[in-house]
Amino acid sequence: MKKVVIIGGGITGLSAAYEMQKAIETGKLVDYLLVEKEDRLGGKILTEKIDGFILEGGPDCFLSEKPWVGQMAEKLGIGNRLMGSNEASKRTYVFCDGRLNMLPDGLMGLVPTKIVPFALSPLISWPGKIRMAFDWFIPRKKTGEDETLGSFVTRRLGKEALDKIAEPLIGGIHAGDPDQMSLKASFPRFIQMEEKYGSLLKAMLAGRKNAPKPKPAEPGKPKKTFFMTFADGMGELTDTIASQLDKSKILTGKTVSKIEKRPDGSYMVHVEGMDPVEADAVIVTAPAHEAAKIVKDVDKTMADNLAGIPQATSATVNLAFKRSDIHKHLECFGFIIPISEGRKIKAATYSSTKWNNRTPGEDYILIRAFVGGARNQELVYQDDEALLKMVLDELRDIIGLTAKPVVHKIYRWEKGMPQYTVGHLDRVAAIEAKTSANPGFYVVGGSYRGVGVGDCINVGAQAVEKALAHVGAE
Ligand SMILES: Cc1cc2nc3c(=O)[nH]c(=O)nc-3n(C[C@H](O)[C@H](O)[C@H](O)COP(=O)(O)OP(=O)(O)OC[C@H]3O[C@@H](n4cnc5c(N)ncnc54)[C@H](O)[C@@H]3O)c2cc1C
Repeated sequence: MKKVVIIGGGITGLSAAYEMQKAIETGKLVDYLLVEKEDRLGGKILTEKIDGFILEGGPDCFLSEKPWVGQMAEKLGIGNRLMGSNEASKRTYVFCDGRLNMLPDGLMGLVPTKIVPFALSPLISWPGKIRMAFDWFIPRKKTGEDETLGSFVTRRLGKEALDKIAEPLIGGIHAGDPDQMSLKASFPRFIQMEEKYGSLLKAMLAGRKNAPKPKPAEPGKPKKTFFMTFADGMGELTDTIASQLDKSKILTGKTVSKIEKRPDGSYMVHVEGMDPVEADAVIVTAPAHEAAKIVKDVDKTMADNLAGIPQATSATVNLAFKRSDIHKHLECFGFIIPISEGRKIKAATYSSTKWNNRTPGEDYILIRAFVGGARNQELVYQDDEALLKMVLDELRDIIGLTAKPVVHKIYRWEKGMPQYTVGHLDRVAAIEAKTSANPGFYVVGGSYRGVGVGDCINVGAQAVEKALAHVGAE
């Protein structure tokens, strides 16, 4: 029987395995094996329950506008476990000039759509606000060449908008450096907005006019919010997929060391500590820098292009406090910090405000701080004690928090955030040209065409569709 080997058991690999499993259950004559180097499945999706706190090591949510997580949840039978964020507290602050400033209401992505709250906000100076308004008149860029997020925002909205909004808010999502990040790869929507409307402000206003009215939640379904998660955290998604897979087809704690192409067009997957596995198709979902190490024997140029995708190191630090120990607590989603402030944390999410059930009752507060990213990676490499002290010192300085955490947990993600730097899409196209030249070989995941959990589910499923066609099990 034809066999598909999936390498990596993060959300991309799990999505692929789920589709393979469904193919088998609907009578397709095909087999699969998923090989994961860690002892657990889930990759960067990592939720832990400690003393009744729900701690997220990696993603804490997904974007509901991308349909794939919701669709997967329905297929898994956990659609009723989806959970919206707490809209009543949907405020984010920017720590700027030594104090917290609320991001003005109506700021969609980068661009203000409500004049009054923006005009009244002290976040951006008056010269900065006027410079942002110039966007209305600045002609669109003529060449279709890629540019950095930094150059785009400075060109259209000015340097202050870059420093105080775009860099911390948007660059932060990717743990990226706006002066390196590719606009084409990370924010194609901004390019389309400029192309179609000639101005971000005009595009946003048009978008607001044409936006569909928010629908009330369907009976038995959670209200759809911009960010969503699962009642038991994002790990509920990966745990549920894993629970529905045939255990005999999953190998954990096993590292793939290399893949060879055989003269008949099939592949030999070498797994440390066991006999090689023959495969008719291979889906590599390991992050690009890890994939680079194992695909060399299939194609050296593909490996070089994979190695050329930089990855940034970061850490998330979960901290739980007794509410009574905190004198002043802002009911908000958290705050972000521009790099120009020179602080040692990038942002903090107030997890217990953003979501309703993250603590064992109302008496506690859960905060998640972010350290590292493209410009500050060295901070992640301190030992736990020093890293914890640094984060607590920062929270003391920024929000006046002096309480001792009752629970804390540090998650480090070494090379955990792929950086879509300028030229990224060309690198990905070059990788895909090489996979096309090797039928039955697919390289997909968060390193290439979207870091979001939904994107990963989608590309995992697409790879299976192609693999099934390749092995003749459509
Ligand atoms: C701190 C952090 C916060 C994030 N927040 C969000 C968020 O809020 N929302 C969102 O949508 N996205 C978020 N992301 C991004 C998202 O989590 C990732 O893009 C996504 O989980 C990647 O999934 P993946 O399966 O492609 O890769 P991974 O999760 O990295 O899985 C790849 C797997 O391959 C395994 N592997 C590697 N090499 C080998 C080998 N040689 N042999 C066998 N196995 C191997 C690894 O152990 C790993 O389990 C966040 C990421 C991080 C790090």
